[in-house]
Amino acid sequence: NKIGIDAGGTLVKVVYEEKNHFHYKSFPLQKVNDLIQWLQLLQSESTFVLTGGRAADIQRKYLPDAKIVDEFSASCNGATYLMREEDIKRENYLLINIGTGTSFYVNKNGKSDRVLGSGVGGGTFMGLGQLLTGKSSYEELVELSDSGNREQIDLLVKDLYSNGNPPIDGELTASNFAKVTESKEAADADKMAALTNMLAETIVLLGMQISTQHQLNSILFIGSTVSNNNNLQEKLYKFTTMLGYEAIFLKKGKYSGAMGAYLSI
Ligand code: ATP
Ligand code: MG
Repeated sequence: NKIGIDAGGTLVKVVYEEKNHFHYKSFPLQKVNDLIQWLQLLQSESTFVLTGGRAADIQRKYLPDAKIVDEFSASCNGATYLMREEDIKRENYLLINIGTGTSFYVNKNGKSDRVLGSGVGGGTFMGLGQLLTGKSSYEELVELSDSGNREQIDLLVKDLYSNGNPPIDGELTASNFAKVTESKEAADADKMAALTNMLAETIVLLGMQISTQHQLNSILFIGSTVSNNNNLQEKLYKFTTMLGYEAIFLKKGKYSGAMGAYLSI
């Protein structure tokens, strides 16, 4: 028996098998103590395989016999496995893991390389979200962003070219958050909608540069930031397809790292 654990900056993701079925669970990092105790009770003879930024921490504190595998290969291998499970067959694609931070991996000819990282990620959604609204619960912030409208916050190209024909699509963003200076008041929901949009735009634009450079047509998005946030997923989908690339999301994408760890032994 084995248990794969991906301990990131925010959430701990777990994959294990029981009666020929995979179980997928995620927990806040703060609860890792309870989690390990529960897993040890559940499967006392198990080998633990850890990955993610907090893997060494967990090994030292709770699981001295656990094996550690590197996060980059675990994420890519796990994503490949989960993609096959959903019958999605792509040889060459860009993998974007939107965790607390964001990592970009080129998957080409059976090899994967981490080519870029960005601090713009799920942690930004939480942190800036809290600064903007005073709320710190993930669910609340997602709900706000769902019901908001970014047009009160973002300056669009059509706002700039108010009386003429814009040289590019008027619905494109001229400047994120720039309209706030005119409107004075902004609702929390609108702020969260604008933030979500800015994250999606930024991540897709970075992804597009890499995809062009490496001649990749498909972008696969993983990470908990994506899987629990429909609004963000829709925006990522919209920008990716607008730029002419295919956007793929996996049902269990947030468990890529944990699955990769599980599969590594
Ligand atoms: P990293 O890989 O960057 O070290 P991580 O592995 O912990 O971090 P993920 O679990 O992939 O990252 O994603 C964390 C993000 O997911 C959070 O920043 C937040 O935006 C989002 N998220 C989704 N569900 C929750 C939740 N229940 N509680 C907190 N954040 C959540
Ligand atoms: Mg992670």
